[in-house]
Amino acid sequence: MTTITLVQGDITRQTADAIVNAANSSLLGGGGVDGAIHRRGGPAILEECRKLRASHYGKGLPTGKAVATTAGELDARWVIHTVGPVFSQSEDRSDLLASCYRESLRVADELGARTVAFPAVSTGVYRWPMDDAARIAVETVRTAQTSVEEITFVLFDEQAYDAFDRQLH
Ligand code: ADP
Repeated sequence: MTTITLVQGDITRQTADAIVNAANSSLLGGGGVDGAIHRRGGPAILEECRKLRASHYGKGLPTGKAVATTAGELDARWVIHTVGPVFSQSEDRSDLLASCYRESLRVADELGARTVAFPAVSTGVYRWPMDDAARIAVETVRTAQTSVEEITFVLFDEQAYDAFDRQLH
């Protein structure tokens, strides 16, 4: 059984085996939660991202995939970087958003992570409507086959928290 919990706050302050980053495909850092993770986690994360980029992801990490690095100075063992889809009015990219959660949990299982913290992937710069993103996130982790024992969604503001709360309860 996997427990799903919600927290309102800053994911870089969360304690978990793995903290998921809403990265971009370059893996070289960005704004939003990505910027916050690199700032607080320190340079070791970017260093490993650069190496992964050079060794495996010359064209970037594809959308919907996930890959792990050290968590640097964060209170976690790993950061799992996943690339969310940019929201589109004309194309349904829900499967790619669901894939971010599934792939992150698959990587977490490979690592042996028991507790995983997720932000609301794609709901910032990538503009995914919060209610729909929350529905996809909750449905996907609820139905995922995983050994992860506790999944925590860390929502930055009250609007995001309420959207996830409505899906969960
Ligand atoms: P994306 O490019 O996938 O949209 P963003 O980082 O722009 O990623 O936003 C994803 C979500 O993360 C947004 O809901 C944003 O409010 C939230 N967010 C930003 N900073 C943090 C943080 N430090 N902790 C948790 N969530 C955050």
